[in-house]
Amino acid sequence: MSGIDLTDVVKRFGALTVIDKVNLKVGEGEFVVFVGPSGCGKSTLLRMIAGLEEISDGELQIGGRRMNETPPAERGIAMVFQSYALYPHMSVERNLGFALETARLGAGEIKERVSKVARFLKIEHLLHRRPAQLSGGQQQRVAIGRALVRSQKLFLFDEPLSNLDADLRMEMRVEIARIHRELKATTVYVTHDQLEAMTLADRIVVLKDGRIAQVGTPMELYERPASKFVASFIGAPR
Ligand code: ADP
Ligand code: MG
Repeated sequence: MSGIDLTDVVKRFGALTVIDKVNLKVGEGEFVVFVGPSGCGKSTLLRMIAGLEEISDGELQIGGRRMNETPPAERGIAMVFQSYALYPHMSVERNLGFALETARLGAGEIKERVSKVARFLKIEHLLHRRPAQLSGGQQQRVAIGRALVRSQKLFLFDEPLSNLDADLRMEMRVEIARIHRELKATTVYVTHDQLEAMTLADRIVVLKDGRIAQVGTPMELYERPASKFVASFIGAPR
């Protein structure tokens, strides 16, 4: 049970309203992408779903249960950020398993889960390296691996590929699509890359000034953008 339901969700920072009554349902297993200009509220909305920002008003449900007050660790969510935030002094293996150590799993179980994820992401040969000995793409695989290892049903990505060069970005885009196909986890993915949005999304949410400008499948937005604004992100040139 990992569908997301946002009802009239508001976020204020002091006098500033940065998310203004957003209503959105993300279906179980759906891949939804948030796009919009810098500062429109993409990260804030994602962080509210994750529990890293308090919700000022409105309701968040995950799997049909109200989550407004639920601590992040109890929301069944794995989040991948733009900066990989790997622990530099730990091996890849330990980076992958660390969240499980704090969840008090046994060493055997941790090793088993870590090697399964490492196989899945094709990073088995890197398990004994430190993050500094990895390429950007490899580091990003480890960051995704850390999310996978906890076998959550809901993934949140905040511009996970924006630090990578174009080739690696394409490779990782294919990889993320594969992960979603195989795990069918509900996914919310923030990007400013139109190609990423078009190729990964079941539905795209275009945000403007903390409000939803349009929601639809990539084809719907591409062929029938509701405004010039939406067209400038996704639509066919005209
Ligand atoms: P995006 O991810 O779309 O670039 P953000 O969600 O990061 O946008 O930011 C949305 C708005 O909220 C911006 O105007 C930003 O300056 C503001 N904002 C974000 N975090 C804070 C904060 N902790 N305190 C005050 N304002 C914030
Ligand atoms: Mg952001």
